[in-house]
Amino acid sequence: MKGTLFIISSPSGAGKTSLLTELFKKHNNDNSMYLSISHTTRQIRPGETNGVSYHFVSEDEFKRLIARDAFYEWAHVFDKYYGTSKELVQQALSKGQDVFLDIDWQGARQMRKLEPSAKSIFILPPSLKELENRLIARGQDSSDVIKSRMQKAQREISHYNEYDFIIINDKFETSSEALWSIVNAYRQKRAYQASKNEVVLANLLEGYSYSEKDDN
Ligand code: 5GP
Repeated sequence: MKGTLFIISSPSGAGKTSLLTELFKKHNNDNSMYLSISHTTRQIRPGETNGVSYHFVSEDEFKRLIARDAFYEWAHVFDKYYGTSKELVQQALSKGQDVFLDIDWQGARQMRKLEPSAKSIFILPPSLKELENRLIARGQDSSDVIKSRMQKAQREISHYNEYDFIIINDKFETSSEALWSIVNAYRQKRAYQASKNEVVLANLLEGYSYSEKDDN
């Protein structure tokens, strides 16, 4: 049984982190999901914890990890490095967990090449004005950083057509349900169910042997 790899992207402030947090809170009691924690060289923000939000490392350490081929993919975003650890993602998938990668469009492109079966979801704000309001309300960035994030948001948004799914995050509850419905749909795929419910399926067909005349 292999889990599904989900790539989640959005411009900063569109609500991706809150949606992922809610998804895990509601649906991860059985430990069926794994959120990949990226490495980054950016500054830790108020409210973030090292090892939870990200693994915060120096630029030298990040470059050492690149040289060691420790990353599935990595990217240079807002002048800082971000990367996805290879080993942990592969381990989780092979345990049958669904893996969530919170990465930008550049990382998404690299991942699709490496893992063509990955499913990608793009989370969008309902408008640019709303995006700006959310960035201000979040209170994590200076006004200069917000300005730069707003400029980059449209560049990120312009890649929406590379994604399998789009969620316009206007009402949080509706978006949260949409995200779960995508994840849950992949759990009903025949290959996944055949592996997870092997015994149930075998029991359903117990004693039956196929004969062509049954089809008439
Ligand atoms: P932030 O600094 O706001 O947490 O994230 C900035 C951007 O970096 C977001 O678009 C986020 O998706 C992206 N990002 C975070 N981790 C990774 C990663 O491991 N790889 C790539 N390519 N992008 C990432």
